[in-house]
Amino acid sequence: MESQKRRQKNSRKQPLWKKLYFAFNNLSLFVKVGLVMALCGVIIFLIIFVLFYQLTRIENKLHAGYKDYLLASFYVQEKIIKSYSSSSILEKQLNLKEAKKILNSMLKGGVISIEEGNIKLLLHFSPLKNPEKIKILKTILETLNKNPEKIKQVEINKLLDNLQTFTYSLFQEELSQRIYLQKLFYQTRLMELFLGIVLAIVLLCGGLAFFLMVLSPLKKTTSRIHDITYAKNLSLVQKEPLSVPFKFNDEIGKLVEEVNNLIKYFSELGQFKRVLEEDESLEDVYERLGQLLKQRFGFSHFAIYAVSNSQNTMEVVYRSPEDLMVNQEILVMADLCRAKRTGKIVSSFETKGICKMFIHKNAEHICIPLITGGKVEGVIQLIIPQENKEKIKEIEKNMPQLQAFLEESIPVIEAKRYANSLKQMAVKDPLTGLYNRRFVEQILDNLTAGILRRDTVLGVLMCDVDYFKKVNDKYGHDVGDEILAGVAKVLKDNVRKADIVARFGGEEFLILLVDIRKGEAEKVAEKLRKKVEETNFETKAGVIKKTISIGVSEFPVDTKAIWQAIKFADVALYKAKEMGRNRVIRFKPEMWQETKY
Ligand code: GH3
Ligand code: MG
Ligand code: MG
Repeated sequence: MESQKRRQKNSRKQPLWKKLYFAFNNLSLFVKVGLVMALCGVIIFLIIFVLFYQLTRIENKLHAGYKDYLLASFYVQEKIIKSYSSSSILEKQLNLKEAKKILNSMLKGGVISIEEGNIKLLLHFSPLKNPEKIKILKTILETLNKNPEKIKQVEINKLLDNLQTFTYSLFQEELSQRIYLQKLFYQTRLMELFLGIVLAIVLLCGGLAFFLMVLSPLKKTTSRIHDITYAKNLSLVQKEPLSVPFKFNDEIGKLVEEVNNLIKYFSELGQFKRVLEEDESLEDVYERLGQLLKQRFGFSHFAIYAVSNSQNTMEVVYRSPEDLMVNQEILVMADLCRAKRTGKIVSSFETKGICKMFIHKNAEHICIPLITGGKVEGVIQLIIPQENKEKIKEIEKNMPQLQAFLEESIPVIEAKRYANSLKQMAVKDPLTGLYNRRFVEQILDNLTAGILRRDTVLGVLMCDVDYFKKVNDKYGHDVGDEILAGVAKVLKDNVRKADIVARFGGEEFLILLVDIRKGEAEKVAEKLRKKVEETNFETKAGVIKKTISIGVSEFPVDTKAIWQAIKFADVALYKAKEMGRNRVIRFKPEMWQETKY
C-alpha cells in the first residue's frame, strides 16, 4: 500500500517531458514512426511558409522603396516646372529650394516630409548606390544650382528629360525586381507542391514498406518467441520456420533468421527428446545419441562410454568409426578417465595435454561427462583432428547446443539404465553379473524340455572356490568379493554364449552347458578349472591366485530328473573336495546310494 502510494505520488511529480516520453514509449511502432513523419511534414511546410512570408515582405519593402522614389521624382518635376513657370521670384526660389532639398535626400538618404494641399507624406530614402542614377541626380542638382535667370530653356528641357530618365529607370528596375520576385514566388509554390507530393508518396510507400518489412516480421517474431517461451513442452514448439512477406539481409532479416534458428533448435531438441523417450532399449538411445553427434554436430570421431559406478568400470557403448581405438585402461578403472573422475568437461583446447589417458596422436579432444544425481553416468569423448581449425571454431560455437541436447538425453539414459538394472536385478546377481538361483529355477523346465526334444545333453557343472574362507579371513570381505567377481568372469568368458552360468550359493557356481555331446562336460570343466588356476586375480591386496573344484554330471545321461542331476554334480563336487581340491570329478552312480535327493 505504502509503496503504491509513493509510486502514485512519484508519477504525479514527474516532469512533463517524462510523462510525454512514457506516453510515446507505449505507442505502437507504426504510430511512432507515423508521428515522426508527420512532424517532418509539419516542419517542411513551416519552412515553406516562412519562405513565403519572407518573399512577401521583400516584395512589400521593394514596392514601398520605389513608391517613395517615384512620388519624390514626380514631386520634384512639379516643383521645377512650377519654379520656372512662376512669375513670382519668391515662389520660384521656394520651389527650387524644395526641389533641391528632396533631390539631396534622394541622393544621400533620409526621411523627408512633403505637403500637397492638406496631404502630408513622409518619404523614406536610402542612400543611392547606382552610379548612373547618382550621376543623373547630380547633373540635375548642378543645373538647379545655377542662377535661374541665366538658365536657358534648352537646359530646363534637358533637366526634365533627365528627371524622366531617372523615373523611367526606377520603373524599369522595379519591374525587373518584381518579375524576379514573381519567379521566386512561382518557384516556391512549385517547390511546395513538389514537396507535398513527395511527402505524400513517402508517407504512403514508407508506411506500406514499413508494414511489410518491419511491422509484420516483428509481430510474427514476437508471437513466435512468446509461443516458444510459454510452450508446455519443447516438442510442442511449432516446427515451421517464420515466413515473412519480404526477407532482406538487414537487421530485421537477421532477426527473423535468428528466430528461425531458435525455432529449429527447439523443435529439434523437443523432437530428439520425444524420440529418445520412445526408444525401446538403452542401446537405441546410445545409437540415437551417436547419430546426433554425427549428423547434427558433424563429428566423425567419437566414443560414448557408459560408466558403472559400483564397479568403477566403463564400457564403450557407441563408437565412430566402428574401429575407433579406445584406451583399455579407463575401461577397467573408470577413475582414470579425467572427465569421469572430476565430473567436468575436459578439453585439450583449453589445456594442452590435459589427459594422459588420451591415446590419439595429432588430435585434440573434448570429453563431456554425463552427470545425473551428482554421479557421472557416462562420458562422451569427441576427437578432433588438430589441423581442422574451422571445425574447432564451429565446435566452440555449437558447444552450448550440444550440451542442451545431452541434458535432454541424460534423464532418459538414467531412466533406461535404472529400468534395465531393475530388470536384471530380478534375474542377475549384482556382484558377479551372473544369473541368480531364481533365474535358473525359472528356466530349468523349458531348458530341459528343449534338451530332450533335441536329443542332446545338458552338462551340469557345480563349482566351488577352494579355501575361500581364507581369502576373507586374510584380506577381508572386499577382496573376497573381487575374487568372486573375477572367478565369475573367467567362468563366463570360457563357456559358450548359450550356456548358463549362475551364482548358486555364496561362492558356488552352477554352469549348465547347453547342447553338448555326451562325455564332453568333463572336458569343459577341466578347461575351466585350468583357466582359473592360471589366472592372476588382481585385487587391491595385490595379485591372488585361486583354484576351484568342479563336480560334473550330465542330463539326461545320469538321470532324467534335472534336480537330481544338479544334486549329482554337487555330490561329485564334494568328492573333489575330499580328494584334495583343484580338480574335476565326474559323477559316478556309486557315489550316490540314496534314492531321494
Ligand atoms: P572349501 O570350499 O575349499 O572347502 O573351503 P572354503 O573356505 O571355500 O569353504 P566354503 O566353501 O564352505 O566357504 C564358503 C565361504 O565363502 C563362506 C563365506 O564366508 C564365503 N562367502 C560366501 N559368500 C560370499 C560373498 O558373497 N562374498 C565373500 N567375500 N565371501 C563369501
Ligand atoms: Mg562353498
Ligand atoms: Mg569353497
